[in-house]
Amino acid sequence: MRIKRYRGAFAAFVFCTVLVAAGIFAGQDAEAQGQRVDSRLVARAQQYTGDRFNFETQTPRGARVISVSRPNAATLNAIDRGLAELFAVARRRGYDAATEHTDYTIFIARPDRTRDSSGAYSPDIAIGAAQYAGSVYDQGGYVFAAGLVLSTQACAFVIAEHESNWQRVADVTRYEGEHIVLYHNDRRLYSRTADHSRGGGHPILQ
Ligand SMILES: [Zn+2]
Repeated sequence: MRIKRYRGAFAAFVFCTVLVAAGIFAGQDAEAQGQRVDSRLVARAQQYTGDRFNFETQTPRGARVISVSRPNAATLNAIDRGLAELFAVARRRGYDAATEHTDYTIFIARPDRTRDSSGAYSPDIAIGAAQYAGSVYDQGGYVFAAGLVLSTQACAFVIAEHESNWQRVADVTRYEGEHIVLYHNDRRLYSRTADHSRGGGHPILQ
């Protein structure tokens, strides 16, 4: 595995990754499958983060939050704000599906680092490099991601626990949500923008 150095631009760039949902959720209706999808989602989140998710709650606007520790009000409000900003932009483009807070499940994982290479506060999750192997993001078999889309179909993603910088929580929430909103409303643009190893970042929708 080649190890590449950070480029300067990386520090300010909110990086995320979308798991290809092939197999696990394909052909399943998330609502109809209910409990089954739920346990698979949690298992998937645990597999990719190595964390145990012991808490479940809701944001004031009804997004579901599953987390490693009890999330504070600032975090829950930031998630609501990030989603609201995303939905406003989406609706201006005529996107309708997956634009309610209650559609979403957000996992909050323990960060694998809290500072980026420039020393800035940047709680991120280390994820197996997969399609990013050998790219600028590759840290030797893994990448640090601000967020991870677990399931486009079930509208679920992972972010890292923050202790400050709630704006970043809102931003990462909005950015992960972009992939999901695109998946449900504009499959072509989703496909073009889901894999950041080929370039492109966030925001996608302006
Ligand atoms: Zn992304």
